[in-house]
Amino acid sequence: MITDSQETNNAIRRAARLIKASRKAVVLTGAGFSTPSGVPDFRSPGSGLWTRYLPMEVASLSTFRYDPEKFFAWLRPLASHMLRAEPNPAHKALADLESAGFVKAIITQNIDFLHQRAGSKSVIEVHGTFNTLTCTSCYKQHNSAGFMDMFIEEGTIPHCPDCHSLLKPDVILFEEQLPVRMWMLAQEASSTCDLMLVAGTSLEVMPSAGLPVRAVDNGAHLVVVNKSTTFIDERADLLFMDDVAEIIPRITAEILGG
Ligand code: ZN
Repeated sequence: MITDSQETNNAIRRAARLIKASRKAVVLTGAGFSTPSGVPDFRSPGSGLWTRYLPMEVASLSTFRYDPEKFFAWLRPLASHMLRAEPNPAHKALADLESAGFVKAIITQNIDFLHQRAGSKSVIEVHGTFNTLTCTSCYKQHNSAGFMDMFIEEGTIPHCPDCHSLLKPDVILFEEQLPVRMWMLAQEASSTCDLMLVAGTSLEVMPSAGLPVRAVDNGAHLVVVNKSTTFIDERADLLFMDDVAEIIPRITAEILGG
């Protein structure tokens, strides 16, 4: 098996050395970081979430506005997966690296809150979060937890307890702009890091896919851990075509143990 080979062991040691030597390591994560936790990548064929609807159509602001029942019917199985999911060893490893001072920020395209649940503090959620909902009328923000059981079990669409208007999950839908503050933080972190670890993302979604380009253009080292190829692979110092839950804990053990 490739992951047990001497070559991989050497690459893990080299990745650990690069991260240890860095002053500001930043991580960019995507759907592949949460698939080992059982959260399906809703953009992938075969996730089951493609079969009935096209995500770009249903996960859009206009479907939410004009056909909220269809929007919430699509969201329900995904919400159920996210609520049941637990952080995997890669989430825990990044949280350990952060608390030991080796990771300064995690930029994530994921909306499942698993980095925070694993203990990470400096998380930049460029696609928003499913952890909170905001009222479309009075703009009061609510924690999702109080609404999710009824939604997942009975399909009850969440409404504001104060004004009874529809609640919108604080995730960025198609047709919506990325949240300005988060996006500026992500750009700043990418421009100023001296090492970027790209993990569990195929870098197919713009503009997040441009962040590692920004990092390497500014001289940062690049480590990529992803099961499939990405357009930035050729610029990587080290490339692991593997599962994040396999590789990230091994790199972390090397850093924290050595
Ligand atoms: Zn309200």
